[in-house]
Amino acid sequence: MHSAKLRQQFSDQLIRWHATEGRHGLPWQGVCDPYAVWVSEIMLQQTQVATVLERYPRMIQRFPTVKHLADADIDDVLAEWSGLGYYSRARNLHACAKQIVNEFGGQFPSDPALLEQLSGIGKSTAGAIAAFAFQQRAPILDANVKRVLARLFGITEALQEKATTNRLWNLADELLPQTPKQMPVYTQALMDFGATWCTAKTPVCITKKAICPFEGTCKAKSSDQVLAIPKKVTKPKSPHFQCHVGLFLYQNQVLLQKRPAKAIWGGLWSLPESAWEELDGIKASPVLDSSSAIHLLLKVLPDWFGENAAWSMQCTVQLGTRFKHVFSHRILHIQPSVLELDQNAKREFDEALQSDKESFVWARLDALDLYGLPQPIKRLLLDWNPVRDGVVIN
Ligand code: SF4
Repeated sequence: MHSAKLRQQFSDQLIRWHATEGRHGLPWQGVCDPYAVWVSEIMLQQTQVATVLERYPRMIQRFPTVKHLADADIDDVLAEWSGLGYYSRARNLHACAKQIVNEFGGQFPSDPALLEQLSGIGKSTAGAIAAFAFQQRAPILDANVKRVLARLFGITEALQEKATTNRLWNLADELLPQTPKQMPVYTQALMDFGATWCTAKTPVCITKKAICPFEGTCKAKSSDQVLAIPKKVTKPKSPHFQCHVGLFLYQNQVLLQKRPAKAIWGGLWSLPESAWEELDGIKASPVLDSSSAIHLLLKVLPDWFGENAAWSMQCTVQLGTRFKHVFSHRILHIQPSVLELDQNAKREFDEALQSDKESFVWARLDALDLYGLPQPIKRLLLDWNPVRDGVVIN
């Protein structure tokens, strides 16, 4: 069948497919409040639906309107986002909420071109908000939609190429239903079809789990190239880094340090850490014995703690188990060292911390949820949590 025919019939076929096979009843579906649509769209980027199902209601309950979010302290937003990863999304949510309140009187614009100007809203997210909340004829083009369109139209070029992306945007635009009222269901259907039927590795036309409504028109299917589209691009290997983190403990508290806003995990609370050192190959340095660990701990604190601080001579350091955290473009090997401070050492710490009070906090180990923490650091603290494990530290 001809591409022109596919263009003509696509939206009707897809909407019909959605009626019986699409996802229904997700808490953000059928909602036309742009704030709720926007929050769900940002959460769904890089996070699985099952996780968003759990976290979205919490987020909306904590920040029920754009004004609540704009007025919130960024630390509270990051704490609520904790565990979802890609924290720039949370910082952008907060910044965008402020823009909506300050520049648009608290009302989301309905024009996708204006939405796209806001912090953290790309062209596809702008399209989704405009379609769901305002029934605008605006296309979306996330990774799933790119794959579906590339297969349907037999596009064999790498999707990352600018010319290909432009072609896909044009197709996404041409395929839109003529009736604006259909935009919410059409957009949801397109998302669902890419996420559940025309998937990257197990599209239904290959697994034979069901009959795809586009089998007669899909170019990838007719040319037997379904799994070859989209073209695979070999990713460069991720470089490996290592760093040391210090768990400075006093009774049931741990010392946390605020990370710089522009760094990885920007604005979150974390453990004091040494500079990340790039590894030659994937092997982290050999594990050190505990007598060397004190030198690691000295590396994780700012210079103003002083190399000859009395605490460093008196306290016992334990080495924790080194573990790995995989980012999208790098792999970090984290070596924790644990130091339990006595009263004198704690006093010495507190004096030293006076010179940078904003950047450090003693956090209770049984109240870590109050802090936005990077996921691997949170896991480390929870795994180690002496309160939860019933170990008393004095
Ligand atoms: S026929 Fe296969 S590749 Fe084509 S749209 Fe359907 S599921 Fe996707």
